[in-house]
Amino acid sequence: MSEKSREIFGTPKTAPDQQHPAWCNPSRCTADPSTQADGYRSGVGGEHRSADVPLNIGAGSWPIPPTGVAFLTESVAPWRCSTFLRILVDGGAELSMAIESAGPLFAALTDLVTSGLAGQEANWR
Ligand SMILES: [Zn+2]
Repeated sequence: MSEKSREIFGTPKTAPDQQHPAWCNPSRCTADPSTQADGYRSGVGGEHRSADVPLNIGAGSWPIPPTGVAFLTESVAPWRCSTFLRILVDGGAELSMAIESAGPLFAALTDLVTSGLAGQEANWR
């Protein structure tokens, strides 16, 4: 491995990421950077995790409205890991996406819902 590629990809001796993201909730966080002190070890570093945002879908779903939670999560490795938005519905279905993808998606959904609400308001007049 060349010196340049070491700069780009890091090395197993890179210092573990010790910082908790601002959104990390201490009661949900299982991050243990000490497991990565001697290099990357898969599956033992835990994760930074935000508080749950409850997804109470409410009326309009039949027969039982689905419930779920959404939260941010970030794995622990000797390098900075990507942050993911994870959505769990009824303890089964799971959707996970990098926040870089979630931002534009939710902006588009917000526009769509705003448009739907405006149309609904117009129909009720
Ligand atoms: Zn944390």
